[in-house]
Amino acid sequence: MPDIAALKERVCRAIDAHYDEILALGEDIRVHPELGFKEHRTAGLVAERFAALGMAPQTRLAVTGVKAVLRGRSPGPTVAYLGELDSVLVRDHPDADPETGAAHACGHNAQIATLVALAYGLVEAGALADLDGAVALMAVPAEEYVEVEYRMGLREQGVIEFLGGKPELIRVGAFDDVQITLSTHQTSEDGPGRLGVSGASNGCVVKRIRYLGTAAHAGAEPFKGVNALKAAMLGLQGIDANRETFKDEDHIRVHPIITKGGALVNVIPDEVIMETYVRGASVEAILDAQAKVDRALQAGAMALGARVEITTLPGYLPRILHDDLTQAYRENVVALVGEQGWIEPRFGAGSTDMGDVSQIMPAIEATANGAGGTGHGADYCIRDPEMAYIAPAKTAAMTLIDLLSNGAARANAILARHKPAMTRDEYLAFLRRLARTSTWTPEPM
Ligand SMILES: [Zn+2]
Ligand SMILES: [Zn+2]
Repeated sequence: MPDIAALKERVCRAIDAHYDEILALGEDIRVHPELGFKEHRTAGLVAERFAALGMAPQTRLAVTGVKAVLRGRSPGPTVAYLGELDSVLVRDHPDADPETGAAHACGHNAQIATLVALAYGLVEAGALADLDGAVALMAVPAEEYVEVEYRMGLREQGVIEFLGGKPELIRVGAFDDVQITLSTHQTSEDGPGRLGVSGASNGCVVKRIRYLGTAAHAGAEPFKGVNALKAAMLGLQGIDANRETFKDEDHIRVHPIITKGGALVNVIPDEVIMETYVRGASVEAILDAQAKVDRALQAGAMALGARVEITTLPGYLPRILHDDLTQAYRENVVALVGEQGWIEPRFGAGSTDMGDVSQIMPAIEATANGAGGTGHGADYCIRDPEMAYIAPAKTAAMTLIDLLSNGAARANAILARHKPAMTRDEYLAFLRRLARTSTWTPEPM
């Protein structure tokens, strides 16, 4: 039987041996941000490092994804470790790409550095020779749900079906051989602890709403028009009137914006475009809230005799906190940074496509306090490179060793107890049912 403590020690030493290189990689990616489904340079760096370590990476999974599998001494469960490739758009961030406005204001550059660090550790320490099952190292595209129009274009061209990276990877089968998933996200929140696991989170659906009225001279003949802006305003009021029906525990968030409110000030607006997310803590809560949102939006159209088109796109599903995996990860956090270093899981009202993965298999999104400033803000930075780039790779490696040593006993026990919220097929069918366009047209008077 291999000595687990010695194996963990060996892997951590191999990570430390590449300390400067890993920091340089994280910093290089930080100043070369790329938006989702366009992360070609970043994906190339990952594929290069994997190949240099003797792995045979698959590339271009869901456009830019990279995956390499390390096999243990005998067959068993595959545990994936993910690093997200994409950045966000923050034009006034000091390190924003001057052309695209992309900036690593969510710390995903650290995820890629961690992923590569984990590869160095596992490969150079020869860890898989003492483990059973396999480790899949995956660089994954497009976690941020942005540039919706661009992605709708990719969908029309048949390049993607879903607008997020992990849903798309699930669709193309990149998770078919994976039974458990681990990942790490940076946090810049002030609070006790340095490493932990993110709690359950909201999921969301995304809506694009188009009100269509009739243009007319706003001064001379407004009575000939149908005012799409007034219809939209009533729709927004209808949504607000429904807020008291949302239950606290469902954490519903509906936050619409108007992206086109009219064309000319002396013309009755004949087209108004809005977008909103409908977020909630469970699939049922999201479906309930989105039905009320659709009803309110239709009521606005009905009051004015305008037409409304509501296009609904699947966003991300709620993230489920997995207790057994959290416990396995916690033991290694405590070993690395002590009890006081542990960050207790907390509910997150935002949404991520790690939620989608957590619906179909045991998964955790660890959290590391290596960032500073405001998430998605112009002052976001890497405050603690050790905690951003190095420590999460060590805790992930140690957790992988716990899961896959001794005949992968711990991974198998977790899988035996786990009942997924959805199978992969149920998940894909659910997303496809969510995606639809509904139209309300007034009866002729
Ligand atoms: Zn983000
Ligand atoms: Zn993020």
